[in-house]
Amino acid sequence: MSVTDETLAQARQILTDLVAIPSVSARRQSLDACAAQVANLLETAGLRTEVHPGAVGPFVIGETGAGEFTLIIYNHYDVQPEEPVAEWLSPPFALTEREGRLFGRGAADDKGEFVSRLAGWNAFRAEQPGLLPFRLIWIVDGEEEVGNPSLADFLKKRFPYLRADLCWWEFGEIDSSGRPVVLMGFKGILAVELACTTARADLHSSYGAIADNPLWRLSAAIASLRNADGRVLIEGFYDEIAPPDDLTKQLVDKPPFTLDSMMDATGVKNVLKGVKEGNFYERLNLAPCLNVNGFHGGYDGEGAKSVLPAQGSAKLDFRLVPDQDPRRIADLLRAHLDRLGFEDIELTILDAEVEAVRSPSDHWAVTLGCELLERHFGVSPVLQPSSPASGLAQPFVRDFGATLFGAGLTHHGAMLHSPNENIIIDQFERMIRFASDFFDALSAQAVQRANAPPSGSR
Ligand SMILES: [Zn+2]
Repeated sequence: MSVTDETLAQARQILTDLVAIPSVSARRQSLDACAAQVANLLETAGLRTEVHPGAVGPFVIGETGAGEFTLIIYNHYDVQPEEPVAEWLSPPFALTEREGRLFGRGAADDKGEFVSRLAGWNAFRAEQPGLLPFRLIWIVDGEEEVGNPSLADFLKKRFPYLRADLCWWEFGEIDSSGRPVVLMGFKGILAVELACTTARADLHSSYGAIADNPLWRLSAAIASLRNADGRVLIEGFYDEIAPPDDLTKQLVDKPPFTLDSMMDATGVKNVLKGVKEGNFYERLNLAPCLNVNGFHGGYDGEGAKSVLPAQGSAKLDFRLVPDQDPRRIADLLRAHLDRLGFEDIELTILDAEVEAVRSPSDHWAVTLGCELLERHFGVSPVLQPSSPASGLAQPFVRDFGATLFGAGLTHHGAMLHSPNENIIIDQFERMIRFASDFFDALSAQAVQRANAPPSGSR
C-alpha cells in the first residue's frame, strides 16, 4: 500500500482536531462531542456506525466487511485530566510539534493510536475499495480512563454470540531502541481495603500495655500475606495457575531488556529476594504479586503524639495471572485472615472485575503482523506474553475468543497520563504505513483462506 504525504498530513489534522476536544472522562467533559466526532470519522471511512450510551461516555461502534475472519479493533477516545496544567510546555489540548514529537493530551493514549490505524485504514481503502473480505468491528470506548465501568456488559448485550479471531488492542509499545513490543496478554487485578477498629475512640497510648492497636493488627495481618521472596502465603493462592506453554517459556527466557537497565530507568534500589537477571522477566510477565498501596491511621503530623489509634486501614492490590479468579482470591484472603485470628479485620473489595488473559503467540495473524512491523520499523518486534499491568481484555479474549494483538506507538517517553504527553512523529507515520499494509495483508489472507480446500481434503 502506498501512504502518501497527503495521507500523513490528513492524519495529523485528524489528530489535531480530536486532541482539541477535551474528552476527560473523569469530569464527564465533552464525551458526547468526541464520540460524535469519532463516529463521523468512522462513517467517512466507510464503516456503518452506531453510538451507544455508556455509564460515563458513549461507545462508538463501526462495522464493515464479511467473511470467516473477524478483526476487532479496540480504542478509546476519552483521556485523563490534563492537570497539573502549569507543567505543560504547550497547551494540553492544542496538538503541538516540537523536536520531532507531537505533544497534547491523548496524543498517545489513545487518540494517536486510533488515528494511526484510521489513517492506515483510509490509505488501504483508497486502493482496495471493494467489499472487505473479513468482518471488521471497531470499538471506540469513552470510559477507559475511568476503569471501563460498563464495557463488559455493553459488549455482552451488543454482541451476544460474537466469535472473533483477533483483537487489535488499544495500544502497544515501542522500546527505547525503537523496537516494537507486541503485548499478548495482561495481568488481572484484585484491589481490596483492609480496615480494623479496636476501640470507640483514640486512647492515651498508656493503654497499649493492655489494649490492642489496629495498626499493629493490620501490619501483622499484612506481614502474614507474603514472604521476602514476594511469594504470597495465602493457602490455595497458586492452585489454579497452569504452567506456561513452551512458546511462552521461550519468550520469557529472552528478556528484551536487562534487570540492571530497568533498575536504572526506574531508580529501584533493591529487588525482592531471589530476583535476578535470569528470572526477573519471567516474574514480570508470569508471576502474580501482592502490593501494599497505602497504610492509613493514627497520628502522622509533626512531632510526637502518644496516641493509641482506634482505627486503621490499608489498601492492597494483587496482580493476578490467567486462571486466578479475582473473587476467588478475595475469598481465600478472607479465609486466611480468619484462620490466623484476624476475623475482626474488615475486607472490602474495591476492584475485582479484571481477569488476566494471555493469548497464544503463534496465531497466523500475529505472525503476519510481526513480519510487517519488522518491515516498517526495521527491527524484529518483541512478543511479550503479558504486560505486568492490567487491562480489561477478557471480554475480547475469553468471551469472544479473540487472540490479543497489542501493537502500537506508545514509546518510553510518551508521558501517558502526565503533563507533556507525546508521540514521536516518525513512529506515528510508521504505524500508519504498518496499519495500511496490515489491513491489506489480512484481506489477502482472508481471501486465500476462504478459497483454500478444507483441511483433510486433497
Ligand atoms: Zn490511559
